[in-house]
Amino acid sequence: MTTPRSDAPLTRRAAEILVRESVETGRLGRAGAERLAASLGHAAVRGAVLEGAFESKRRVKGDVITFSRNVFIPLTNLCRDRCSYCTFAKPDDSPEAKTYTLDEVAAVVRAARGMGCTEALFCLGDKPEKAYASYRRLLAARGFGSTAEFLVHACDVALAGGMLPHTNAGVLSRDEMAALRPVNASMGLMLETTSPRLRGKGMPHYYAPDKEPARRLRMHEEAGELRILFTTGMLIGIGERPDERVDTLLAIRDLQERFGHIQETIIQPFHPKPGTPMRAASARTNEEIAGWIGLARLVLGPDMNLQAPPNLAPDALEALARTGLNDWGGVSPITLDFINPEAPWPALDTLRQRTEATGQRLLERLPIYPEDVISRPHFLAARVRQRVQALRDSNGFARASAASTATFRQAPDAPGRPAQAPAETEIGLA
Ligand code: SF4
Repeated sequence: MTTPRSDAPLTRRAAEILVRESVETGRLGRAGAERLAASLGHAAVRGAVLEGAFESKRRVKGDVITFSRNVFIPLTNLCRDRCSYCTFAKPDDSPEAKTYTLDEVAAVVRAARGMGCTEALFCLGDKPEKAYASYRRLLAARGFGSTAEFLVHACDVALAGGMLPHTNAGVLSRDEMAALRPVNASMGLMLETTSPRLRGKGMPHYYAPDKEPARRLRMHEEAGELRILFTTGMLIGIGERPDERVDTLLAIRDLQERFGHIQETIIQPFHPKPGTPMRAASARTNEEIAGWIGLARLVLGPDMNLQAPPNLAPDALEALARTGLNDWGGVSPITLDFINPEAPWPALDTLRQRTEATGQRLLERLPIYPEDVISRPHFLAARVRQRVQALRDSNGFARASAASTATFRQAPDAPGRPAQAPAETEIGLA
């Protein structure tokens, strides 16, 4: 009898045994995850992972996939970091550099409420005041000492305007998160990767001190201590190895086990973009992305909310819907995905039809999940709780409104263009 080589791909049978055990126990250990990860390129192994992951999802999440109707507010697109794959961040002398005023935020919020949106997604660069004197002067002229302070006021405007803010502003200190908590339903930071290797010379995070994994892990921990519902995720395809992806997933699971505040994990494929140092990098295939969503489900367990953005794999929505994910994330009927502006959102009606084609239902949630709406009000500040009460239905999902029902059937006129909204110059969408 010959002994299989240790680097030989798993057989389908061996993969099925590992998968079955993880589905039954609700967890997959490092050794098993690394073995499956190393063979995920083989269709037979990937098939076993996906079947198990879909079953695991259905056991707890049922036949539902959710989304959040949001508006994307890139409060400032200045950033002190320079990640090799990013087109969002602009230098302060770029004609595309943009920092919103609070009046512009209010205008976007009004337009978004008119379209039935409930989530104000504040996504912005990391601590631009540390890099740009012109931006420091702009903040000072408006009476703010930091981006975080400015952000608190912007979230307050959104909350007062009837929306639930969700902030993703890069690495924030404990005090900054504590100041943002009273005006945010949830916050987030993509962990991206736990690999410090990617901070090395010639690697994508060399010029990005805020991408130091230890800094990002610390913020996740502090958010847990502050009882902030928190979104995290893994970025796939920026040079990390399969074992490093497994390590990232295990770190997320560890955070959830210690603090219980991880409301969702996003599995996000990297898309190479023209004009960036990584423009020639190869894009990930839909098969690879599907396999990793499935493996994430097995590692993170059936209770985790697992999300993949539908605009980043528009040809594979039905396949992705069978990977074990239970959420499509924020989908906007009014603004584009400013991080991936080349990738338009699917029309909500299309997303519903393609979800239903897999035997599942599409339901609209708030920026937080129904189970947290119902059972974890102590994670929400009083004002936020009141707003949640006004926007939720009896099951903790988003309450249907006249605007949301009407716009569900309406595709945007053009991707990312506001429909029935103020003129682009008025609300700062360049
Ligand atoms: S930290 Fe974010 S916004 Fe800044 S350069 Fe990196 S990816 Fe872009």
